Amino acid sequence: MPTPSGPTPGTASSPTQQAIASAEARSAHNYHPLPVVVSSADGAWMTDVEGRRYLDMLAGYSALNFGHGNRRLIDAAKAQLERVTLTSRAFHHDRFAAFCEQLGDLCGMEMVLPMNTGAEAVETAVKTARKWGYRVKGVPDGEARIVVASDNFHGRTTTIVSFSTDPEARADFGPYTPGFDIVPYGDATALEAALSDRTVAVLLEPIQGEAGVLVPPDGYLRRVRELTRERGVLFVADEIQSGLGRTGRTFACEHEGVVPDMYVLGKALGGGVVPVSAVVSSAEVLGVHKPGEHGSTFGGNPLACAVALEVIAMLRTGEFQGYAAELGDHLHRELGLLVGRGGVREVRGRGLWAGVDVDPALGTGREISERLMERGVLVKDTHGSTIRLAPPLVVSKEDLDWGLDRLREVLAEG
Ligand SMILES: *Cc1c(COP(=O)(O)O)cnc(C)c1O
Repeated sequence: MPTPSGPTPGTASSPTQQAIASAEARSAHNYHPLPVVVSSADGAWMTDVEGRRYLDMLAGYSALNFGHGNRRLIDAAKAQLERVTLTSRAFHHDRFAAFCEQLGDLCGMEMVLPMNTGAEAVETAVKTARKWGYRVKGVPDGEARIVVASDNFHGRTTTIVSFSTDPEARADFGPYTPGFDIVPYGDATALEAALSDRTVAVLLEPIQGEAGVLVPPDGYLRRVRELTRERGVLFVADEIQSGLGRTGRTFACEHEGVVPDMYVLGKALGGGVVPVSAVVSSAEVLGVHKPGEHGSTFGGNPLACAVALEVIAMLRTGEFQGYAAELGDHLHRELGLLVGRGGVREVRGRGLWAGVDVDPALGTGREISERLMERGVLVKDTHGSTIRLAPPLVVSKEDLDWGLDRLREVLAEG
């Protein structure tokens, strides 16, 4: 099993240190990356500029569900690079129809509206729900409301941070977009009370990723589905991080047997190669858009479609979902053994996705992440003393166990 060796990261004037210093001098400090400088990657492993190897237990926030350098995805991208990469939507191209048809079929829905980043897809969902509200539901102009959950993460645009409850994400970015009602996540009674005849949509993450991989109480999503159906409100599931195999199913909503009115997808849809996002829904809902009313220069471009088509083909067999479910059971069994002793307060999640609350006495999530990095495992902390584990779905059981051993060492160190 590869273990990192060589100079400690952060040694003065090491290639690592130099690269970090240069980046910090010339980039905005809107991130606080771990002090590792990656230069190549393969499968579940990344290699830094000094040749040290690390097990990737973050997988680009689930953008890399199929691993680094996935052969099928790289081949699909290369073949498309040689043919045509961009047409803009001013013209048709020959990968577009297949992408829409196959993504729609994967979701069991009729229509697709492609964008690039997750935040753009959420913006598209918001615009679509509002327009549907005015044109189909009959909400008076300018009065549409959307119910969202506390501790949500839906992206970084001005409208999306307007309904964030995280002061870090929101402060100093006003004035804020109105039209959103925030209710506590997981509380169906509060959600019901927030619905009015002006409500056009409920927008939720079926599992809240950035909040610490929070799984709502059993029956919550089912109740949201019932309430939204009864009240003629669209149920919009932001599956950008939870979807496409991560939880052991194609969509996290499936764990409760729930089908929303609209899926918002991103991250893994682009296979870790290109940004690809989409809103997928019925013809009644997405049919509200007319030419010129919404769009994106890069949305649905040939390269994006070619890579996403390969992603969809890989998901169609159910093989990745099955593997994530099986190895996820193992992951949660092993993590469960650490709860109450071994320095872990609580573990949440589904499939190959876990939020681990470390005893704050052992350090902040950041400090735990740094100690794991020194041992060759890359994770990302969220709030306080929570670390998030989300390895690529191609990680082997042996590698995952190796990573868990490193976690046990760090926790035992105290
Ligand atoms: C990452 C994420 C987004 C935003 O995606 P970007 O591609 O970073 O804009 C939105 N919703 C959820 C649930 C996410 O995890």
